[in-house]
Amino acid sequence: MDRYALIGHPVEHSKSPHIHAAFARQTRQELSYRALLAPLDGFSDTVRMFRAEHGRGANITVPFKIEAYALATRLTERARLAGAVNTFTFEDDAIIGDNTDGIGLVRDLIINLACPLAGRRVLLLGAGGAARGAVFPLFQTKPVSLTIANRTIERAQELRTAFASCAGQTAFTVGGFGDLKGWEFDVVINATSVSLENGVLPLPGNIFAPDAFVYDMMYGAGDTPFLAWARTAGAARLSDGLGMLVEQAAESFTLWRGVRPNSASVLSGLRRKLASKSKAELISGREF
Ligand code: NAP
Repeated sequence: MDRYALIGHPVEHSKSPHIHAAFARQTRQELSYRALLAPLDGFSDTVRMFRAEHGRGANITVPFKIEAYALATRLTERARLAGAVNTFTFEDDAIIGDNTDGIGLVRDLIINLACPLAGRRVLLLGAGGAARGAVFPLFQTKPVSLTIANRTIERAQELRTAFASCAGQTAFTVGGFGDLKGWEFDVVINATSVSLENGVLPLPGNIFAPDAFVYDMMYGAGDTPFLAWARTAGAARLSDGLGMLVEQAAESFTLWRGVRPNSASVLSGLRRKLASKSKAELISGREF
């Protein structure tokens, strides 16, 4: 049986084994997928051990996505640009590193949530790993503008330098939260971890165009703190990031198995499970 794993620290709460098992059942693929806890100083040893057990591929989660980038012997274009790897495919002499987080976000927005990005004014909040993985796939959807705002402005400026050559016809601006005064956006994506801290971003309240779509990469049983703020600031269409989690997994599965699973049914099953949890158990995408 072909073996796959999620490698991270921690991994015990991960939903990835459940998601991949569901994909395998649907597509009648014979495989196993397990959560593999790597010691904080033992990521490469864990990967070596898993390859020795004939592992065919792995997902990588916090805190190892940058180490995974360094360990890969070949990188896809989107992983190279993201500077982080969440998917390994093992070949005889090669470790191919890919990044499926950003395409997972884009597929969730466009396909699951019917939120087109082409020709729209998109605001990306944050400049950490998740934001970095999203920039190239977002440009590929051809928004009319992409604005990145971050608490630490220098990190947003680093993204400007790294991705300027990918912008094509899209107007590309970066700055701090205060710079957004007077601007209006059709799609606002929160890639900061502020919701994890139950905090609020210091954003002007009038950044939402009529009918704007607001997305938080974090997810939980009800509105995340960011979505709750957006709702009170007048946003009508909102989503958390559970669909991104399922779609990044579906993209990895497709890479490994050559068959695309039906992510919608897995997502609705997870959504039902999550709805039965209390708000106090708000879960972070970090676990995946
Ligand atoms: P990260 O690399 O640690 O980056 C954190 C980002 O949040 C940085 O831009 C940071 O700004 C900002 N930030 C943190 N606390 C803040 C605060 N109090 N006020 C303003 N900005 C703050 O984390 P990440 O891996 O990018 O993850 C970001 C979020 O995405 C997390 O909530 C994670 O759960 C979620 N995520 C979801 C999925 C999914 O599949 N749904 C996948 C990946 C990530 P500075 O640069 O100023 O520090």
